[in-house]
Amino acid sequence: MGIFGHSAVALAAKPLSPRVPLGVLLLAALTLDILAIAFGIAGFEGGVKGIPWSHGLLMSILWFGVAALAGARIFHSARAGMVIGLVVLSHWLLDLVSHPIPFSSFSWRSWHWSFGHPLAPDLPLLFAGSPKVGLGLYNRISAAEATALELVLLLMGFAVYLRSIRKHAAP
Ligand SMILES: [Zn+2]
Repeated sequence: MGIFGHSAVALAAKPLSPRVPLGVLLLAALTLDILAIAFGIAGFEGGVKGIPWSHGLLMSILWFGVAALAGARIFHSARAGMVIGLVVLSHWLLDLVSHPIPFSSFSWRSWHWSFGHPLAPDLPLLFAGSPKVGLGLYNRISAAEATALELVLLLMGFAVYLRSIRKHAAP
């Protein structure tokens, strides 16, 4: 999934732990992609190596644990840590639904990708060589439809977020 869909989870999770800043939840929602970029630059991931360290199920559960522990320490709240950790893990679940994505054919100019052709799943359960999963929603719909879906999710997340602010602001 893309940045809007993942950010929607951060917005929707904000009321669950009001003392965690929204920026932290947004970072949590995008942690796996940030790791993928960092590991790609470092040479651990990308191309034939795949994305086992950032987006493998086993490693995602580890990132969940790291984020939950760090969050609990920083915000002195087990609940805050759990919310941050679950937002990190939500990334994998949304990617499970949407991956594999035909992004290699994506054109920013025409906002188009060529979908519908067979693509290998790209989310490893363990490490390199382990079975990979992905339900492939984004390989069944156009880039415009995927964008529309993410914007709807973002609006829904924003609505949840706004409602919680209003509730807190009410006398
Ligand atoms: Zn991702």
